[in-house]
Amino acid sequence: MLNKLRLLTPGPTPLPEEVRLAMARDMVHHRKAGFKAVLAEVQEGLKALFGTAQPVLPLTCSGTGAMDAAVSGLFSPGEKVLVVEAGKFGQRFTQIARRRGLLVAAQPLPWGQAADPAMVRYALEADKDIVGVLMQASETSTGVLHPVREVATVTKSHGALLVVDGISAVGVSPLPMDEWGVDCLLTGSQKGLMLPPGLAFLALSEKAWERAAKAAPGSFYFDLAGELANLKKHQTLFTPAVSLIAGLQESLRLFKAEGLEAVYRKQWALTLGCRAGARALGLDLFAPKHFAWGLTSVALPEGVDGVRLVQVAAEKYGVVMAGGQDQLKGRIVRVGHMGHVDFGDLLAGLHAFNRSFAICGGFSACDDYLERAMAAYEEALEQGYPAL
Ligand SMILES: *Cc1c(COP(=O)(O)O)cnc(C)c1O
Repeated sequence: MLNKLRLLTPGPTPLPEEVRLAMARDMVHHRKAGFKAVLAEVQEGLKALFGTAQPVLPLTCSGTGAMDAAVSGLFSPGEKVLVVEAGKFGQRFTQIARRRGLLVAAQPLPWGQAADPAMVRYALEADKDIVGVLMQASETSTGVLHPVREVATVTKSHGALLVVDGISAVGVSPLPMDEWGVDCLLTGSQKGLMLPPGLAFLALSEKAWERAAKAAPGSFYFDLAGELANLKKHQTLFTPAVSLIAGLQESLRLFKAEGLEAVYRKQWALTLGCRAGARALGLDLFAPKHFAWGLTSVALPEGVDGVRLVQVAAEKYGVVMAGGQDQLKGRIVRVGHMGHVDFGDLLAGLHAFNRSFAICGGFSACDDYLERAMAAYEEALEQGYPAL
């Protein structure tokens, strides 16, 4: 065992010790007072994390389950929605919406590009039948951060519902649901929240709850009104993933102790550090302008195989990164730095990246990329993050 395993993927992410220990405890019964107290405590933490006064439903499923729950809970077959399709997860929203029998007006964008609020406005003006807009906050397949706040201004003025998949953004970069006017915000457990996969969370605005009450019955398991009624009694509709909720309690305590501002500041600094390191190596960043904070997509030069690079980094250095998906397979490497990741992990990641890059036929003459990454990290940490 030469190396520690370092999970620098955009989910799952490494777990803090407090979370791991909490999940190792013996089982408790989910209908008894002790567990109700846990659900009551995590509810407060989740509301703070989501930036909402609305209840945040905990669901037992992966992040996609919450996307499914949102679509089937809010819209009825035959209704029309606009989907911002800027990558694999945007496409997933289209698939889910079609499965629900919705008409989808897709707004496909070249991978690497961010949503254009003016295009959303145009689409809503051109087609009054569109009742909802579905988009990611951060499109994890490309590393792009979409302008959710601006799109929310558009949906608000048109009366359409804005549904945001914040799976790789909640707890990573600011996304205050109520302040921005997001109607449905959802996330999963294994990214910014420093938990294993298996939980998802979903909150609705008042307007969205009104819509949900009118939607044709959909999924039996994802019954939003049923979950809400239970949540009011500090319960869940079905047996929840009790151990994961115990982990969630600890993770939310960490968020509270640290403060959201400090968490965002660190995530921003890691992002700038990673970008500076990759640039110092002479590499292009796949999302040059509107970039996500929790991961960095590095474009590889012709002739360097990203699949092999990721393999070498894992085998030789214990650093697990993600490759590109679909048409980006082999062409980009996605370095995750969300959740419980710090500058030491980032330095290890950049070093592993550089060495694996050379083994796979890449070349860089830069020998101070780690210093440059650290300088960018420290400067960003000091200056703080920009307003989104
Ligand atoms: C990871 C991710 C998903 C998928 O989540 P699962 O937990 O794998 O179902 C969906 N959307 C985004 C933006 C993601 O980052």
